[in-house]
Amino acid sequence: MCAIVGVFGNSDASRVAYYALFAMQHRGQEATGISTSDGKNITTVKKRGLVTDVFDEQALTKLKGHMAVGHNRYSTAGKASTWDAQPVYASYQLGEISVVHNGNLINKNEVRNSLIEQGAIFQSDMDTENIIHLIARSQKERLKDRIIEALDVIKGAYCLCIQSRTKMFAIRDRYGVRPFSLGRLENGGYIVSSETCAFDLVGATFVRDIKPGEMLIFEKGCDEYKSIQLFEPDPHICAFEYIYFARPDSDIEGKNVYAVRKEMGRALAREQKVDADLVIPVPDSGVSAALGYAEESGIPFEMGIVRNHYVGRTFIEPTQERRDMKVKLKLLPIRALLKGKKIVVIDDSIVRGTTAKRIIKILKEAGASEVHMRIASPTIEHPCKYGIDTPSYKELISANYSIEEIKDYVEADSLDFLSIDALKKSLGDDTKYSLVSFDGNYFIK
Ligand code: AMP
Repeated sequence: MCAIVGVFGNSDASRVAYYALFAMQHRGQEATGISTSDGKNITTVKKRGLVTDVFDEQALTKLKGHMAVGHNRYSTAGKASTWDAQPVYASYQLGEISVVHNGNLINKNEVRNSLIEQGAIFQSDMDTENIIHLIARSQKERLKDRIIEALDVIKGAYCLCIQSRTKMFAIRDRYGVRPFSLGRLENGGYIVSSETCAFDLVGATFVRDIKPGEMLIFEKGCDEYKSIQLFEPDPHICAFEYIYFARPDSDIEGKNVYAVRKEMGRALAREQKVDADLVIPVPDSGVSAALGYAEESGIPFEMGIVRNHYVGRTFIEPTQERRDMKVKLKLLPIRALLKGKKIVVIDDSIVRGTTAKRIIKILKEAGASEVHMRIASPTIEHPCKYGIDTPSYKELISANYSIEEIKDYVEADSLDFLSIDALKKSLGDDTKYSLVSFDGNYFIK
């Protein structure tokens, strides 16, 4: 998962990066960091914690320069330590570089072991560190060529921002798995960012998505960026970004995430209609799809469960009793609305089945007479290796049980999912998508 941002040619680069990371906090809450360059030196601040905890006025003032790269971390590769916070910085033969990465490299261990055999010393457990080692070890004279050489070795899903003291490179893998967009800043320069929701906050105008297989080069003294098509594009845009991960106000490949989610809800209502009194979303992940479901089915939409936003993420939950207490603190059913009603409850996805079971219990305890669950994506039967944090086959409920068995486990009166075909239709046919969690097509070999 993770979020990355790159800012070039802006006198307030660190602050722009800060706001962009704030807008993309949903993509990772474990650690955050920014590196800036003033043309002579790269400065980095990175730490575990949220964007607002890590960066204060003092940190932002320290981060001087007209260019910045930043990162929010959600660990899909590596461990939860400060060493695993990004940007990854190095001083090497050509000077200094700082790298941020969103995605997952599938040949991480192979490349890492081979580098270790050649004498490399690793500081972190991150696949991103491979890239910096490959760049540092290359014999090419120019950074651009060193990066290209490194990209020939790594395999997987990646969006990268690589900053030297005077240049910035933004690269998207040939499959375009993770989103990556380019914007123009109102008060000068450019921004590249995992999601377009960052542009609104910093006053940037969307220019275009970075193409799969493309490298953009921003250079000091040049007003315009250069573009090189490094690899033949083979688009496999991650469907899960639309289903769950991206923020609803972001546009990916020209399509608004909220609109696509709502369309998935409409498609679900056409495929899996239920006779019910109310459509209720799982807060907050099921809201957009539930609105679509209600619109299409004509069944009234109600926020039958509201969330208490003040339940801390660090709440200790060592026993089942405490965990149940946490759910009670967090999810508040509106009894007056639910009592005696036939409910269709909508969520975007089922991973382990934990959320579904809890929500149905809450609705039944609040007096609902029937609870039918509809899921606005197909059954997740395969782990994603390209940067979405889905667990192993063992933990994925749909990889091990039939829909009927899952229905019994979550104690729903009925349960159904969106079909893969309907998902594809909701996404549109103007490009290809990665549906790996649903169809097991691991297209990066
Ligand atoms: P589970 O409770 O394990 O079945 O997970 C399903 C719930 O987690 C749904 O409410 C989703 O909105 C949410 N979800 C789906 N995918 C992910 C993910 N990769 N990371 C965290 N939460 C997720």
